[in-house]
Amino acid sequence: MRNKVLEIKNLKIRYVTDDGIVEAVNGIDMLIEKGRTLGLVGETGAGKTTTAMSILRLIPDPPGEIISGDIILDNIKLLEISENEMETIRGRLVSMIFQDPMTALNPSICVGEQISEAISIHQDVTKEGAKEKAREMLEIVGIPGSRMEEYPHQFSGGMKQRVIIAIALSCSPKLLIADEPTTALDVTIQAQVLELMKELKEKLEMSMLMITHDLGVVAEVCDDVAIMYAGRIVEQGNLEEIFKYTKHPYTEGLFNSIPNIDDRKAELIPIRGLMSDPYNLPDGCSFCDRCDYALDICQTEKPKKIYFSGTHFSECHLYSGNSDFQLNCGKK
Ligand code: SF4
Repeated sequence: MRNKVLEIKNLKIRYVTDDGIVEAVNGIDMLIEKGRTLGLVGETGAGKTTTAMSILRLIPDPPGEIISGDIILDNIKLLEISENEMETIRGRLVSMIFQDPMTALNPSICVGEQISEAISIHQDVTKEGAKEKAREMLEIVGIPGSRMEEYPHQFSGGMKQRVIIAIALSCSPKLLIADEPTTALDVTIQAQVLELMKELKEKLEMSMLMITHDLGVVAEVCDDVAIMYAGRIVEQGNLEEIFKYTKHPYTEGLFNSIPNIDDRKAELIPIRGLMSDPYNLPDGCSFCDRCDYALDICQTEKPKKIYFSGTHFSECHLYSGNSDFQLNCGKK
């Protein structure tokens, strides 16, 4: 039996604004098993962060609204519990690391106290016990405990992100959500932070949801991958299935638009056009206007999931009745 840490079923979220309704998340399913990292990949506006915020139940309402679906974390149906119960779950069962470490820390409180505070909120420990645990967490993320009394401005960007990771992991959550955790960092520091997250995930036996637009990050840290486009997960599979047996034209477009180290002369092929107007999604496939493979049916009918293995599916009409169809896949 699969050891599920997070399961999302048919989740629909919308934003009701003065300009109209945005169907931000449009009926997605997701599963993260114990000890595995799922990469949620897509461009800005695809619905990735909205999905993450819904797991923490932090969608601003209004204008946001979870219309339907289930979010089950460690066997708890998060959409059915009270706000008080949810407060005990945030930080203890699920934590989140945000994109910009510069703004996530309080500049007027020393880092040791910020970590201790997170521990005291969720654990029944004395002030001294929290401080001791905070020191231990700092050391786990590679910062000497002697720097407990220092303030955020005394740390570099990469070190600040390590402090954020220490706070997020201080209560040993079952699920860590990381929203573009290395985007604001220098490239050399990015690799160190990713390596640290990978190591800690294994050491602490957590699961992770890694939100990113960077397939390099996915290759580095993820076990499974979900490709999100215009509020839908259009392709999902394990790392090998997505990287070697790409099925969705949008996933192919993402691969074709990144450099290939083995073929430096290969031309980058950007995905043409822009994502559909979120206020006015097409009746058929949302990727239709940008897709080189579009068929007549793509204009009028939403594609359904087609499975290629127990874990790999794609939502694309190309495979209806012909699951052997092959994309051109410029990356191969
Ligand atoms: Fe392209 Fe049609 Fe597949 Fe959409 S359903 S990705 S338009 S081929």
